[in-house]
Amino acid sequence: MENGKQSKLVSTTFTTVLPAPDQLTVDSVDTTSAAVSWSQPPGLDQTQHHYQISYQCPGTEPHIATTSSHSITLSDLQCGTQFSVTVCTVLENGKQSQLVSTTLTTILPAPDQLTVDSVDTTSAAVSWNQPPGLNQTQHHYQISYQCPGTKPHITTTSSPSITLSDLQGGTQYSVAVCTVLENGKQSKLVSTTLTTVLPAPDQLTVDSVDTTSAAVSWSQPPGLDQSQHHYQISYQWPGTEPHITTTSSHSISLSDLQRGTQYSITVCTVLEDGKKSQLVSTTLTTVHFQWWRRPSRVAAVCVLLAVIIGLWDSYATAERDQLQNSLNTRTTERDQLQNSLNTRTTERDQLQNSLNTRTTERDQLQNSLNTRTTERDQLQNSLNTRATEVDKLKKSLNTTTMERDQLQKEIERLNWENKRSCPEGWRRFGCSCYYLSTEKKSWEKSRQDCLERGADLVIINSEEEQTFINGFKSVSYAWIGLTDSVTKGPWKWVDGTPLTTARYWRIGHPLGSTLHYCAFIHHMSSGHGQWWSFDCSSSEHWICEKVFS
Ligand code: CA
Repeated sequence: MENGKQSKLVSTTFTTVLPAPDQLTVDSVDTTSAAVSWSQPPGLDQTQHHYQISYQCPGTEPHIATTSSHSITLSDLQCGTQFSVTVCTVLENGKQSQLVSTTLTTILPAPDQLTVDSVDTTSAAVSWNQPPGLNQTQHHYQISYQCPGTKPHITTTSSPSITLSDLQGGTQYSVAVCTVLENGKQSKLVSTTLTTVLPAPDQLTVDSVDTTSAAVSWSQPPGLDQSQHHYQISYQWPGTEPHITTTSSHSISLSDLQRGTQYSITVCTVLEDGKKSQLVSTTLTTVHFQWWRRPSRVAAVCVLLAVIIGLWDSYATAERDQLQNSLNTRTTERDQLQNSLNTRTTERDQLQNSLNTRTTERDQLQNSLNTRTTERDQLQNSLNTRATEVDKLKKSLNTTTMERDQLQKEIERLNWENKRSCPEGWRRFGCSCYYLSTEKKSWEKSRQDCLERGADLVIINSEEEQTFINGFKSVSYAWIGLTDSVTKGPWKWVDGTPLTTARYWRIGHPLGSTLHYCAFIHHMSSGHGQWWSFDCSSSEHWICEKVFS
């Protein structure tokens, strides 16, 4: 109440939600272990708590672990198996949050240490170790083997070794093995290569022997049914180089053998790529006729030998001469080639010298060109400088000319004031001097010229003066000091006096227009001359008048 009195209290309770772990992540997975982690959920900073982790694979009881950290490594897992993992937050009083969960699958390990134990012509034995973590898991192995250009053979075994048979001899096979679980899940492959032994020919037999020939044969060895191959036969008697021949059949006749001589014979299998098998060998001895029982044949043989030796000697002599001739020819050719080579070498050296000379000349010309270019640039700069100077001098000359004209006018003015006589080029009439211009200018500029000369445009005060002015016969028209341009309407003289006598205007003048006009005198051969009103900007001669005061 307002006076502070309070009623009984009514009360209730509520409990905030216990937050579940945040961001449950599988950090790594191995064959038998896995690491998972999570973040501390918000709102638990000041609350004692830990986490409970439960993990299981299908068909087994869950494993439960607790930790106060934010990660755990699960070990002793079955490999190649999917596990579900759940984590919840647990308070000291046992209260548990909701579960967060994830799944992970352990890696199925590949067979270990794949080894080729033995290799034969048509078979090979390979073995491997059972990978760790598979002790309690039903599994077998799948073996795939193939030689280049054929389809792979695939077989399976539950033991960690296998003998591959019916292989081609002398052939490289690639062998790959992987672990397979009952559910068909396969591990990564481990692989190796092996090369079967190329089989040597089988059952080498001497079939017959004569005085100068023999026949030997053998069998095709197993494992070569589908391989292109042939055989290489080598036979020799002691102290000589071996004779080598090849055949694709399984027998050969050796001829041109020495009588009564023991030969060693070897045969090997040869593949198309040149690969050779081990050698099999045998010996045979050619038949020696039994000369001590046939003296007549001995005598015949002796005669025959004598004939052969004689023939041989002449044959050898002829062959030696041919060889000597051939040698001489080759020597001559060699000397000619040597001479040719020497000539070419000399030519090459001369060309090299010529090239060097030309290169030097080119460099000198280049230097000369560079020097000339520099000189040209300097002259160009100098020319530019001179042109600038000329411009300056022209401006200076203009200024000086204007100053000279001004001074000339100043001298004229001073002469008047001092000597009170008309300067040279001026004419005297009454108390005034008159100047007729040689140039043509507008009325304003004409008047300016007169003012600079200490005079003004002529003011005609009397008929005598008008007659005198009309006597300036050298020009037809000349500005006089009369204008309506100061105030449109009344014509006035330049000293401000109004025009009172207008009897010298040409008929129709002054022109009646809103434009301003100035007057010039038109020289007439008789009479007094006429005044014209005219556009003041027109360029005309003018007449100055200086009145002595
Ligand atoms: Ca006058």
